Amino acid sequence: MKIFKSKHKLKKAIQNQKSLSFVPTMGGLHKGHVSLIKRSKKFKEKVIVSIFVNPTQFNQKKDFINYPRNLKKDLSILKKLKVDFLFIPNKRDMFTFRPKKSVYLNNFSKKLCGSFRKGHFEGVLNIVNRFLEIIKPKRIFLGAKDFQQLTLIKKHIIKKKINTKIVSCKTIREKNGIACSSRNDLLSQDEIKKASKIYKILSNEKKKPSINLKAVKEKIIKIGVKNIDYLEIYNVNTLKKSNKLNKNTKLFIAYHLKDVRIIDNI
Ligand code: AMP
Repeated sequence: MKIFKSKHKLKKAIQNQKSLSFVPTMGGLHKGHVSLIKRSKKFKEKVIVSIFVNPTQFNQKKDFINYPRNLKKDLSILKKLKVDFLFIPNKRDMFTFRPKKSVYLNNFSKKLCGSFRKGHFEGVLNIVNRFLEIIKPKRIFLGAKDFQQLTLIKKHIIKKKINTKIVSCKTIREKNGIACSSRNDLLSQDEIKKASKIYKILSNEKKKPSINLKAVKEKIIKIGVKNIDYLEIYNVNTLKKSNKLNKNTKLFIAYHLKDVRIIDNI
C-alpha cells in the first residue's frame, strides 16, 4: 500500500491510472468501511482510500475535536485489505485550490439532517468535489447508511457531468442491529444497549401495516435518549416526505445519546 500525504505526489503517482475505485472515509475504520473496500476490490481495479476528517462538515467544533481517530488501527486494516493507495491529505492541500466545477447542492439538502446541521452538506459536497477533481476515479463507493449524503453526491455528479459512477453499498450492522459507525466508539455499554433497543423498535414498526410516528417517538424517548432530531418517512425515489411505509419508503432517524448523535435509516 502506497501512502500519500501530499496531493501533488499522489496526483503524479496516479496520473496514468484510468480506472480507479475510490473509497472516501474519515477514518476510525469499522466493518462498514471494510465492506465498501471489499466491494471496490471486486471491480479488479486499483483501489484508493482517503482518510480525512473534514472540518468544514462539522457544525460544532467540539464534535470535530471529539471525532474518533485511530490511524494505527486504520493502517493495519487497510494493509490487510491490500488497498493500493491511501491518501491522507492535510487541510491546506485540500482547500487551497479552486476546483474547476462548482458544487451543486440539491434541495434535498435542506431536509432531515440538513435542517439540524447547518452547513453540513455544503461541507460534504465541497470536499467530495475536491477529491473527485484530484483523483478522477472511475467509481466512488458510498454507504447507504448516509442516504442523504449519497443522494446529494449522486445529484452533484449528474448535474456537473462528472465522469464517476456511484456504487451504493448496503448498511452493515452489528449483531445487536445498530449500524456500524465510527461514533459508536464514543458510546458506553449502556448507550449501546439503548441504541440496539431503538433499532429493534424501528425494525418492528416497519413490519406493521401502519405507523404512528408520534407514539414511536414517545417509546424511544422512554428508553432514555436525550432528544430526537427527527423521525420521518421518506420515499427514497421521489425524496418526498411520506406518511406510509411501503417498499419505496424508509424510516429516517437522528437522535442523541448523551453527546453522541446517531443517524440511521431502516
Ligand atoms: P465516514 O468515515 O463515516 O465518513 O464514512 C465513509 C463511508 O462509509 C461513507 O460512504 C459512509 O456512508 C460509509 N459507511 C459508514 N458506516 C457504514 C455502515 N455501517 N455500513 C455501510 N457503509 C457505511
